[in-house]
Amino acid sequence: MALPCTDVSDASSGSEAGSDGFAADAIIIGAGLSGLVAACELADRGLRVLILDQENSANLGGQAYWSFGGLFFVDSPEQRRMGIRDSHELALQDWLGTAAFDRPEDYWPEQWAHAYVDFAAGEKRSWLRARGLKIFPLVGWAERGGYDAQGHGNSVPRFHITWGTGPALVEIFARQLRNRPNVRFAHRHQVDRLIVEGDSVTGVRGTVLEPSDAPRGAPSSRKAVGKFEFRASAVLVTSGGIGGNHDLVRKNWPKRMGRVPKQLLSGVPAHVDGRMIGISQRAGARVINPDRMWHYTEGITNYDPIWPSHGIRIIPGPSSLWLDAAGNRLPVPLYPGFDTLGTLEYITQSGYDYTWFVLNAKIIEKEFALSGQEQNPDLTGQSIRELVRSRARSGPPAPVQAFIDKGVDFVSANTLRELVDGMNELPDVLALDYETVEAAVTARDREVANKFSKDGQINAIRAARTYLGDRFGRVVAPHRLLDPKAGPLIAVKLHILTRKTLGGIETDLEGRVLKSDGTPLTGLYAAGEVAGFGGGGVHGYRALEGTFLGGCIFSGRAAGRGAAEDIS
Ligand SMILES: Cc1cc2nc3c(=O)[nH]c(=O)nc-3n(C[C@H](O)[C@H](O)[C@H](O)COP(=O)(O)OP(=O)(O)OC[C@H]3O[C@@H](n4cnc5c(N)ncnc54)[C@H](O)[C@@H]3O)c2cc1C
Repeated sequence: MALPCTDVSDASSGSEAGSDGFAADAIIIGAGLSGLVAACELADRGLRVLILDQENSANLGGQAYWSFGGLFFVDSPEQRRMGIRDSHELALQDWLGTAAFDRPEDYWPEQWAHAYVDFAAGEKRSWLRARGLKIFPLVGWAERGGYDAQGHGNSVPRFHITWGTGPALVEIFARQLRNRPNVRFAHRHQVDRLIVEGDSVTGVRGTVLEPSDAPRGAPSSRKAVGKFEFRASAVLVTSGGIGGNHDLVRKNWPKRMGRVPKQLLSGVPAHVDGRMIGISQRAGARVINPDRMWHYTEGITNYDPIWPSHGIRIIPGPSSLWLDAAGNRLPVPLYPGFDTLGTLEYITQSGYDYTWFVLNAKIIEKEFALSGQEQNPDLTGQSIRELVRSRARSGPPAPVQAFIDKGVDFVSANTLRELVDGMNELPDVLALDYETVEAAVTARDREVANKFSKDGQINAIRAARTYLGDRFGRVVAPHRLLDPKAGPLIAVKLHILTRKTLGGIETDLEGRVLKSDGTPLTGLYAAGEVAGFGGGGVHGYRALEGTFLGGCIFSGRAAGRGAAEDIS
């Protein structure tokens, strides 16, 4: 989906313009989703926009292109059709219970949280649909929590999948920018500095990188072939988070989470390098909540990697038995899909960087979804026929089967003893004691003999199946893991997978970047992941999921509008 735009990669330095005399009113750093949304807002108001990106035009849309396209809506027609009763009040309760804002610097993040829940319960759906968004009718239930009503998690299913996944979402905004005389793209332009004059940001300086024909997502050369300098009334930073830069992830690792993991997979391309955060800070921007991050605990090694240490996230249903490196069951309520951060904290405190799912063929067939557009070709290709065929076919979806066949983290066996032997043969694992694993599995299996149980996970599975979307599409009936009819047995070694940056550049509700004294840094705006999806951390500590793309859209729109208002 290359954008036929003017690529001014031969741009020379100049004080007022791009290479061809294009005098920009606003410069956007980053052609990801938030940058594209901001550009649309500015361009719609007749302003001239220059969009710089360090990658080539094949990478248009940044991370959002790779995404599953999951969107958080509140009280949508899709929810109502599935019998889900959602409301603004319930969503706000869930958001605030999940975010757990507790710092003085959470003032703007909390303002953003209220505004974002208003948006998600209000005009978000109609605004996006008016621009062409189509939504898959089955609503998913992510981050189920498992604590009390005021604690973490979604009380009801809210994860709406974009029909066409990430690429379709990006296209909604990309097509608005194509062939527009007041919009220019300059790919392979890496910003190294913000120009500050007096109290204002007045432009950018950077390096023109050598042309690259690297495919989307693949790391590209950083060889410099020139320099550039552009000026404009407004500069918008929309450069993404830090998930592709493990040094920064480790540096910002919160003390409360225990030891820093030694081994990490990357759930994002290498361009998610976090450089612009430091560059913005040096220009006077205040960065808050850098220790808040959203990494997944169900990462698997991609057998066909596109970027370095490329991992894929399993979006699991609730039935797999989750064991730590020593073979002990994870504590209540750390079931698959319930509390990402709580699980991560448990893992890092366990002293190891990995855990295990133990399941069987019946569970994997229905309960394993893989995050990412390329792992869901039926939804991405918008083919109802392929969707029906692939989901009605017996056995797991083809992308999941490919991981079972080729993935280095998967073990299959007909007996539990063979399974544990296979798990012990994987590299870099603590040898599991068969009796420990067997005790956990058989105790759990005993609990499904009755319709009563004291096992929280079995009860959670039963509760999930009262939701029709889960019963038919996502959650298998409780059964014995060792039931031969449900076999073979499967084990998956799960890694920590870096993904989202929850803290970032502090902004007000118009996307204006704030200085440490709380006043705006004139001329500078920020949106998307670099701004903690709004305000420097709209999610607080945890996320309800599907809130990142929406956060980029909402904050990109706000920053574009804020900058346009200040310019005119
Ligand atoms: C596999 C995957 C699945 C996901 N699924 C979901 C989902 O279902 N739902 C959801 O809500 N979220 C999801 N996300 C998260 C979401 O996609 C991202 O948080 C979001 O797209 C970030 O957008 P952004 O515009 O802030 O930044 P990015 O997409 O990271 O774009 C930033 C751009 O800035 C450029 N850049 C950076 N520094 C510079 C510089 N110095 N000079 C010039 N250019 C620079 C980069 O090259 C990049 O193109 C997923 C992410 C991934 C990777």
